[in-house]
Amino acid sequence: MTSRTAVIGAGIAGLSCARVLRRAGHYVEVFEADRIIGGRMATMRIGVVPYDHGAQYITSRSARFNDFIQELIASGYVAQWKPKLKSSEGDEQATAANWFVGVPGMSSIVRPLAESVRIHTARAVHTLSRDKKGWHVWFEDQSSVGPFAAVAVCVPAPRAQLLLGPLDEMADHISKVRMSPCWALMVRLEERILPDQDVYSDMSEVVRWIARNNTKPGRGTRGETVVVHASPSWTRETEDADPESVAEEMWGEVSHIFGLPPVRPSQMTAHLWKHGLVESSLGESFIFSTEARVGVAGDWCLGRLGEHAFESGFGLGRAITQAID
Ligand SMILES: Cc1cc2nc3c(=O)[nH]c(=O)nc-3n(C[C@H](O)[C@H](O)[C@H](O)COP(=O)(O)OP(=O)(O)OC[C@H]3O[C@@H](n4cnc5c(N)ncnc54)[C@H](O)[C@@H]3O)c2cc1C
Repeated sequence: MTSRTAVIGAGIAGLSCARVLRRAGHYVEVFEADRIIGGRMATMRIGVVPYDHGAQYITSRSARFNDFIQELIASGYVAQWKPKLKSSEGDEQATAANWFVGVPGMSSIVRPLAESVRIHTARAVHTLSRDKKGWHVWFEDQSSVGPFAAVAVCVPAPRAQLLLGPLDEMADHISKVRMSPCWALMVRLEERILPDQDVYSDMSEVVRWIARNNTKPGRGTRGETVVVHASPSWTRETEDADPESVAEEMWGEVSHIFGLPPVRPSQMTAHLWKHGLVESSLGESFIFSTEARVGVAGDWCLGRLGEHAFESGFGLGRAITQAID
């Protein structure tokens, strides 16, 4: 059997898994559906303006993720963000403690994990199959690569369930995970018109989060860039709507919340994260079948944050290393 491993998904979980395998001397290939890596640890450039339309910042609870953040700070990929918040004691201004952001965008966070790893982008995996030589990865054009000694499926739970269809037990296990969609709105304003805080949460039934993206370090944008996240319930109701009308509605809601003058943003784009946020997780770091040599990892295994995804991918990488060494 070959010791090649295929990792499906180049988000922080997949790349964390790939790094563990590569550091253990294994040959790894990552297959990513999107044209870029990072998954929901994302930065979208519209013209020259970067927006973090997925994860907003990272925090660390575990020593391992804290070490990773220190590594990112030392290499200049991450810096601390101290947005102005409303303090819990009242209306006084406060700043967030220990919030870190990618520089120049959130997607920088995965860059060191991708070093020396062979990554194929724009390669959506359609099916996985297994024969006595190992695993084969199939794409939509019916081409395939393989054999691989092991496969790490590091994609959102509903997609993992589809890919693991033939392995009923694992797919059944994953079916208890719940993920919700989330609309992200990216807005550019020529002038500053929002009130003085840099982040706002749970503003209405429609709007869950508003951030002044340009207050993050290293963004260097003129004017004001704002990222707005809709609530899961409103996103569910509007999931099939066209992005242009969603953008109008969300900006209308923000204007209403703050009583803004009728200013037309110079740029406004809505993006749907179909499987954006974890509502209920698996409660295990990862799943790995030693017999089948296939495993799953992602934020949804352990929780709902970038840190959970990193830890999950790390754990799966270690389990695969032990199985194929
Ligand atoms: C709106 C929003 C706000 C958030 N805010 C925060 C925050 O402030 N702090 C925080 O810590 N976390 C936040 N999160 C959560 C954080 O982004 C995730 O926990 C983390 O990025 C998940 O990483 P992952 O690798 O598990 O999954 P993903 O990032 O989803 O990566 C999975 C990858 O698999 C790829 N893929 C899917 N299907 C296939 C296929 N068939 N073939 C090949 N590739 C495939 C996808 O394109 C994607 O790149 C937020 C998420 C969203 C959506």
